[in-house]
Amino acid sequence: VFSFFFYTPPQTLFDYIPLEDKATPCQEAGLPFKRGDILQVVSQDDATWWQAKRVGDSNLRAGLIPSKQFQESVSLLQLSFRLSRKDRQGSTGEGSDPGDPEFLTYEDVSRYQQRPNERPRLVVLIGSLGARINELKQRVIAENPHRYAVAVPHTTRPKKPHEKDGVEYHFVTKQQFDADVLNNKFIEHGEYKENQYGTSIEAIRSVQAKNKMCIVDVQPEALKRLRTAEFKPYVIFVKPRVPESRRRRSAATSPGGGEHGRVTDEDLQEMRQSAIQIDQQYGHLVDRVLIKEDSASACAELRGILERLEQESFWVPISWVR
Ligand code: 5GP
Repeated sequence: VFSFFFYTPPQTLFDYIPLEDKATPCQEAGLPFKRGDILQVVSQDDATWWQAKRVGDSNLRAGLIPSKQFQESVSLLQLSFRLSRKDRQGSTGEGSDPGDPEFLTYEDVSRYQQRPNERPRLVVLIGSLGARINELKQRVIAENPHRYAVAVPHTTRPKKPHEKDGVEYHFVTKQQFDADVLNNKFIEHGEYKENQYGTSIEAIRSVQAKNKMCIVDVQPEALKRLRTAEFKPYVIFVKPRVPESRRRRSAATSPGGGEHGRVTDEDLQEMRQSAIQIDQQYGHLVDRVLIKEDSASACAELRGILERLEQESFWVPISWVR
């Protein structure tokens, strides 16, 4: 009798198609999976091929999957192949940093449910081109300001008469802001009209200290920084979908790009490309994809997700709960 929970269940960070795997000893015995599936490893006796089932598929026989160690060596080979090809083409391009290779193999996970006395998980929105996640965030918070809040950002721009320090922004001097950047206080920062803006780790903590759920919208690069046991981020990737009624053949048919809210084929192509890029680079860190067609329905869906987040249990990296 196997004890299925003998090994910590891993979550897969890559797709595996045994029928396309030339290295496997037996393609038919392979267990196909998609990135994000949760597996139960039932045997690690072999250093190269583990036996596993997919969690929830109780009737299935166990199948072969590449062991973590083996998949790491495969990733390393693929990485060096990509790098040598880039060298030959003389292109720097984007891609993995060889000094910090993040091999997409498996991550050990565990069920986690937020208890009533625990601080709420951080909700992180990332979006591809056209998703307008800031608007979505503001809308959900405005509906339920006693439960959800933004992290108040810092800025170096002058305070407007109706604004209060610590409410719209923390207003700081350029020197203070630069020092905070150096001290790694921000999860992200940027410039707008020659002023600096940034969101600090402390700003998130102070929302959570009030027992409210903090919602941030960030560039996906900030994800690595936020993936800690303290924040237990739940990452929602918002992808826009443009309904047929808002599509327009080409920019050339309406010089100046007129027609409000209309999207050209070129725009659509750029939006798709942006979504693909984020998915490839950060998809393994995403808990949930939200397809946004219009603001109202996306907002309703987000509200539903946030409610379930407080009531149900979810898979999280095991290091967050130990
Ligand atoms: P305003 O000065 O009108 O309040 O904000 C102007 C712009 O500053 C916003 O539209 C947004 O692009 C940028 N901004 C506001 N808060 C932040 C932040 O926390 N981080 C970054 N990178 N930009 C921000």
